[in-house]
Amino acid sequence: MISNGKLLTTKENKDNTRTFDWKIEQPHATYLTSIVIGEYTAIESNYAGIPVISYVYPDQLTEGRLTTSRLPEMVKFFSEKTGVKYPYAKYAQTMTRDFGGGMENISATTQTDNMIHDARTELDQTSDGLQSHELAHQWFGDYVTCRSWADIWLNESFATYFQAMWDEHSLGHDDFLYRDVRGNQDTYYRDWARGLLRKTLGEENWWRAINHYLTKYAHQPVSTEQFRIAIEEATGQSMDSFFDQWLYRMGHPVFRVTQTYDPAPKTLTLKIKQEQKPDSNYAYPQATLFQTPVEIEIGTASGARVERVIIEPKEEQSFTFQVDAEPQLVNFDYGDTLIKELHFDKPTNALIYQLNRDEDVMGRMWALGQLSERRKDKSTAAAEKELIAKSIATSLAQDKFWGMRFEDAAALQDATGDAVKTALLAATKDKNPRVRARAIQALGALKDPTLVTAYQDALDDESYGVIRAATEALGQTKSSSGYDSLMKLLDTSSWRDNLHVAGLNGLAALGDSRSLDIALKYSASGNSGQVQAAAITVLAAVGKNDPRVFPLISEALLKSVSPFNAALFGASGRALVELGDPRGVEVLEQANQKLISPRARPLLQQLVEQLKQKTQAAAPKTPGE
Ligand SMILES: [Zn+2]
Repeated sequence: MISNGKLLTTKENKDNTRTFDWKIEQPHATYLTSIVIGEYTAIESNYAGIPVISYVYPDQLTEGRLTTSRLPEMVKFFSEKTGVKYPYAKYAQTMTRDFGGGMENISATTQTDNMIHDARTELDQTSDGLQSHELAHQWFGDYVTCRSWADIWLNESFATYFQAMWDEHSLGHDDFLYRDVRGNQDTYYRDWARGLLRKTLGEENWWRAINHYLTKYAHQPVSTEQFRIAIEEATGQSMDSFFDQWLYRMGHPVFRVTQTYDPAPKTLTLKIKQEQKPDSNYAYPQATLFQTPVEIEIGTASGARVERVIIEPKEEQSFTFQVDAEPQLVNFDYGDTLIKELHFDKPTNALIYQLNRDEDVMGRMWALGQLSERRKDKSTAAAEKELIAKSIATSLAQDKFWGMRFEDAAALQDATGDAVKTALLAATKDKNPRVRARAIQALGALKDPTLVTAYQDALDDESYGVIRAATEALGQTKSSSGYDSLMKLLDTSSWRDNLHVAGLNGLAALGDSRSLDIALKYSASGNSGQVQAAAITVLAAVGKNDPRVFPLISEALLKSVSPFNAALFGASGRALVELGDPRGVEVLEQANQKLISPRARPLLQQLVEQLKQKTQAAAPKTPGE
């Protein structure tokens, strides 16, 4: 049994029960209390004398060790960054079944058992995000907690922010920008990760403010106002306008930037307009004009420099910089710190230069986005489209950051031409598995049977992600020679049946009627939910004319409703639509009656509609109608 604080005693009772006595010394909010009971093995480590423990299922010890190996380092890192040593008697995280994500119970986090990975899964993704987020809550949420649910953003934003800090520490600045800043850019709630306030305050002030906030309000509930006061006390800076602009009001700036270069005085002038308009549909107060620092990167043949300017709350203003030659690169908002919309029209050549040469990964990503839009625009000339595709192919081959190559591969998904195909094929051998998988996925969309061998080679990859992409791509070629390679995957056991699921997904895409028997075998109960779900998708693809298939899928759907099994539910519901049997409507409606989970209801209703439309379209018209 695992609970909060310290285990004082365990007593064996005469009636075959055991009594555990846990005690936590520190005051805390009641929603952070937890008790977990189960058969666990402890993976024990420590930070500065404090036990750091992960509780995993006894048969997952190897994988548990691997997945949680960085946890003690996280405890050390957060203790040092905040200047507040981890405050409780121990830190434990316990894996549990059917638990969504994680919950930062005080000194005893609870987490989904899905987060435990084998070594091959760790190649594609780690569980560091979840672990660091829940750990960060021990300071932000548990040590200081939100006064009311209106202040919950203080808990969540800081946990997400420190999760991002961990990424930066363990993976590097580019990964931090790509995963945490870019990944969160549409979520205001998480915009702490952008480092808005950190850039405004400066590095030293920022960390001093965090330490003061935690120390001052230790073991207390805090409000957003108290957070503002803590920053002001620590830094001596007034935070009124910052909080008013970014926290208490809605809206974000829309900047329109134009650049001109005057060769005689050698000056670059940037004209910046703020074009945001308050939206009359919202009753909440909205910011009208913004005041904020912003960094501008200026690159010439002799190198790049970054200038910091203050944008004033004006509709229009200009900044002038001395630059020896006409700049080849101007990057507004270096590092993409601001929540904003940016309109900055640049010629294609300037965007290509930025894509290949900008030191700021966010600048390269922005250029890629602009170029992709231009490539897909009907009004763009064919030669220009080709030039853009080639420049993206070059970036895919050469960029040093994996995330950029990943985005390049995605951007080439519907591009044509030999240069594109060559670059994507080369990227199927990229050193990063996510890039390899994305390149295969992009190629797969071509449905090109000459690529069968390339996909078959990829089935031997160490990464499950690459294998998944390869099986689907192989299936999409509709080449009968893919069948045997896909079937071979079903002979190999793997962590969480990854290879079985991948093989079945490939068979579903291939649609070869020979896979009916194997799909019947794996759709039977006794297989894992994921395998059953994948097999049912194969049945729908190849079993339309087999009388056994409809009742089998119907039964799977009704079973999946209670206890709710999301994978099986989605797969069997969609399979009924795919089969197009009019009897399916009644089965879907029956499932709706039994359904307890309200989250699944919209999908079910959507499936009913789809099937009705499909069967009505297919039904022969009755005479007289
Ligand atoms: Zn959280």
